[in-house]
Amino acid sequence: MPLVPGEVSNGEFVPSLPSARDRAIVAEILNRAEGLARRQATSRRQFLQSASGVALSLAVFDACASDRASKGVAGSSSTSRGGTFAVPDPADAPACASVLGDGGEFIVDMHTHHVMPSGPWRQSAPGTVSMIRDLVPAGCAAPDEFECLDRTHYVHDLFLASDTTVAMLTDVPNSGPIDAPMPFADAVGTSDFALDLAHGGVHRVLSQSVLAPNFAPIGTTLDIMDAQVAGGRVGAFKAYTAWGPNGRGYDLTDPAVGLPMVQRAHDLGVKVFCAHKGLPLQRFDLSHNSPEDLVAVAAMFPDMQFVVFHSGFERGVNEGPYDPARATRGTNSLIAALDRHAIPPNANVWCELGTTWREVLSSPDQAAHVLGKLLSRVGEDRVLWGTDAIWYGSPQPQIMAFRAFEITPEYQARYGYPALTPELKLKVFGLNAARLLGLDPAAAYCAPDDPLAAAKPAVADLHASGMVDPWRARGPLTRRDVFRVFRN
Ligand SMILES: [Zn+2]
Repeated sequence: MPLVPGEVSNGEFVPSLPSARDRAIVAEILNRAEGLARRQATSRRQFLQSASGVALSLAVFDACASDRASKGVAGSSSTSRGGTFAVPDPADAPACASVLGDGGEFIVDMHTHHVMPSGPWRQSAPGTVSMIRDLVPAGCAAPDEFECLDRTHYVHDLFLASDTTVAMLTDVPNSGPIDAPMPFADAVGTSDFALDLAHGGVHRVLSQSVLAPNFAPIGTTLDIMDAQVAGGRVGAFKAYTAWGPNGRGYDLTDPAVGLPMVQRAHDLGVKVFCAHKGLPLQRFDLSHNSPEDLVAVAAMFPDMQFVVFHSGFERGVNEGPYDPARATRGTNSLIAALDRHAIPPNANVWCELGTTWREVLSSPDQAAHVLGKLLSRVGEDRVLWGTDAIWYGSPQPQIMAFRAFEITPEYQARYGYPALTPELKLKVFGLNAARLLGLDPAAAYCAPDDPLAAAKPAVADLHASGMVDPWRARGPLTRRDVFRVFRN
């Protein structure tokens, strides 16, 4: 299935069991796909991996949305609808391809991953190795299974199996190059690799440097920052404040750990600083996982830009309308922090949708609240596209779903959410990121003679042949899968 309802783990948390609604949705999609595939004289698998399969999935999510709305989203009734997917009849393949397919948007994925299969982390970080082992797609035939998460698969999933234009490459929590699956120097290597495949032109992979200032004396981190910036390839810095030695995190406002790092980024002229906020991972220090400190430093450094990765979203938190009385969790915690520090919309705090959009899209009313709150409070110019690819396979189904998503006039009127116009979708997909990162959307990222762009139709044929499963989620789907990881 291109889009699995419910939770898919990235290896760092136990996904909750599929709900009765999730099971009903899957049964309905598979049942209807069977008949539609027969009529198109194709297999169910191939049907599901087409735009028609995505349209069918979204239509079923949509039809089942009111079930969720009736179960306790504050202020909603079973008849009110917040979000809808405007998709054509799944039997009309050309219409599905035209509505969900490449619209020529400038798409910047702020949040992507792969690993270096032969890095030192394979010896020095056994916990990370067992976590990432479970992200290897089933059926991976490489002698070393981690090769199925390497940079060639990354380039395939992002640039051949999706409409992504530019991607920011990041890493999982680590203490430095020795235990990092994606060290900064190798992220630069992937950026160069993609540029070589395209025979030059404009960089389509940007490298994010993950900093861990609480694992060594602060001077170590500051020296690393100096050296990386001197190399000229730092797209942004990123921190995991809830990660640290002995399970202890830190605050960005900590004068011994956080502030010197932010100050150095400022002094080095790297104006984009990101932090993972929300989405608790295993071994996270939850006392340092709220957006509060990031928003506080945004108020202290008005000439820098701060990006809240995951937008503060947390699983298990029902994302209704904003309520100051329940603003310690989820995206509400971000909004409350903005209010506390008097940061207006469209200022120097930005938010990013990696994993967040994937998690809420199968519940369109929750998706409407998440996007509606972020767009109206963080700002229509400050919400950034992100997918956490390639943990969930190619981001293409997530892209298609966003193309078709709408916030209903009812929720616009009731909660002050904006309409998801084509213009606003273009901002979220990439025009906002272009302003943040100084990218030129009109640059020739894929010139006609770019071999990478030229290969895309051939790869699409390969996918259509059924020989390659382009959209398969890589994360563990069940509690049993995750416990297998823990045993490792
Ligand atoms: Zn991530």
